[in-house]
Amino acid sequence: MVLARRFGYLDPIPLLATAIGAAVRDMEYIQTHPTVVPKKGILIAEGMRGAGAILVNHNGERFIDELQTRDVVSEAILSQEGKTAFLIFDQAIRDESKLVEEEAQKNSLVSGATLDELAQKIGVPADKLKDTISKYNSYVQSGKDPDCGRTKLAKKIETAPFYAVEVTPAIHHTMGGLVINTKAQVLGQDNKPIPGLYAAGEVTGGVHGANRLGGNALTDIIVFGRIAGEEAAAFAKAK
Ligand SMILES: Cc1cc2nc3c(=O)[nH]c(=O)nc-3n(C[C@H](O)[C@H](O)[C@H](O)COP(=O)(O)OP(=O)(O)OC[C@H]3O[C@@H](n4cnc5c(N)ncnc54)[C@H](O)[C@@H]3O)c2cc1C
Repeated sequence: MVLARRFGYLDPIPLLATAIGAAVRDMEYIQTHPTVVPKKGILIAEGMRGAGAILVNHNGERFIDELQTRDVVSEAILSQEGKTAFLIFDQAIRDESKLVEEEAQKNSLVSGATLDELAQKIGVPADKLKDTISKYNSYVQSGKDPDCGRTKLAKKIETAPFYAVEVTPAIHHTMGGLVINTKAQVLGQDNKPIPGLYAAGEVTGGVHGANRLGGNALTDIIVFGRIAGEEAAAFAKAK
């Protein structure tokens, strides 16, 4: 049997495995994604910030280098009032990103013909937001961000209409799960393979350590998925 399932520790499949003695590890570790639309569960990928979106808090101020790692940005958002922030961008950034179009269609975006209108709609002080964006645009111009230390300053935010989407961190990946070896065999609590039981992907634990580089889950499922399939087929044939 090959086990493959996301959000391992929440699901019945690892429970099936642990019921027959499988070992688990790193169950206390998760990875959060910082920019998820509250209650809707829509993830706004890093590409949005890479294309030039900034993050501001409910006071209209930037508070973190938007391109920091997921754990750092998540922590920073959770430290803000209301534990949410706004991704802010303009039409020029929207034109560059297919992702934004998908989000727009899901009605997550608030738009304003001016920054004043946008600020009023999302309930942040307009003067603060305008000041933040004016400062940020000057940092794009100079290539230096003394406020937050962002080094990739993609684009000024200056082309109306302007957009905002409220975001907060959410669970993105569970780092813990079933213990496997390099043949994708599930190990028992005695550290020995459980005959005929294989696992790959997010149901497993320890492959990425306690945190994960974005993108590596796909390599994980392809590499260990293939190994698990081949090993399971060989096991079945040998029976
Ligand atoms: C929004 C989002 C974006 C992501 N983006 C990336 C990315 O860009 N790059 C990256 O590397 N990783 C990304 N990840 C993480 C990555 O997608 C997952 O880690 C990966 O898909 C896990 O694959 P899996 O096969 O282990 O589990 P899953 O993809 O969850 O597949 C498990 C399958 O098992 C099925 N299943 C469940 N229970 C049963 C059952 N009882 N019987 C039969 N079938 C069952 C499910 O329907 C599902 O099809 C993202 C995750 C999320 C949530």
